[in-house]
Amino acid sequence: MADYLVKALAFNGQVRAFAVDATQTVAQAQQRHDTWHTSSAALGRTMVGAILLGYNLKDKEKLTVIVDGNGAGGKIVVDSNGQGHVRGYIQNPKVALPLNNKGKLDVRGAVGTSGTLTVRKDLGLKEPFSGQVPIIDGELGEDFTYYMAVSEQTPSCIGVSVLVDTDDCIRTSGGFMVQVMPGATDETISEIEQRVQKMPQISDLMDSGCTPEEILEWVLGKENIKFLDKLPVKFQCDCSRERFEAGLITLGKEELLTIKQEDNQAEVVCHYCNDKYHFTAEDLQRLIDCL
Ligand SMILES: [Zn+2]
Repeated sequence: MADYLVKALAFNGQVRAFAVDATQTVAQAQQRHDTWHTSSAALGRTMVGAILLGYNLKDKEKLTVIVDGNGAGGKIVVDSNGQGHVRGYIQNPKVALPLNNKGKLDVRGAVGTSGTLTVRKDLGLKEPFSGQVPIIDGELGEDFTYYMAVSEQTPSCIGVSVLVDTDDCIRTSGGFMVQVMPGATDETISEIEQRVQKMPQISDLMDSGCTPEEILEWVLGKENIKFLDKLPVKFQCDCSRERFEAGLITLGKEELLTIKQEDNQAEVVCHYCNDKYHFTAEDLQRLIDCL
């Protein structure tokens, strides 16, 4: 089934909630970047977080999440937009750390715990919005939760998950976000807290076939939820040959001449999707001629 984000209200509007199945989106990222298991989990969890944090983006409005915690994976950068398009990369795709003391993928080791989580939102205004918090945990769910509380003043509970198979393929990936609106009663909050403590891990739920709607039912109780709309989600990069051509042109005439003379061609790789664009000597000459 194709990936999607589902939006819901609960407890008569006291709570806003979102859940996403991002299995195929994260699988695309894993295949494109050929990531090893710990890198896959760190990149995938960041992708799920970026989808959840982008819950209110419209159309081409864009959000970028930068996780820079000085871990083994290096920097992680993910973009998501209001059309449900997500793309991203991890600086060191080939990280496969030993499992942590809970027998799980050591996401904290890949992410690191001495650095920052930055979120930039381009909402088509003059200045993009930007918020930054220190990385407090490194497993990312708590880090996204902390970001929402501190930077966006929205008390939330966020869970992000990636289950990697023994052959490095992505078995499941997804997550949820619950936001408590001003005016929510203590009773509602404590009911959600109790439910979250008691619920199985998201990866186990998804592995047994749970949909995003069913994940929210675990978190909030079936009788309390009103589902709103769904947004299809997929890995999609907006890079193009034209864009990289424009990038080459900015190098200037001399630099392009040097590349042409030394390499007789140029290959440009998109960081986000790993697509390669090849420029022949003739292509380079054409660019030089326009300068
Ligand atoms: Zn690309």
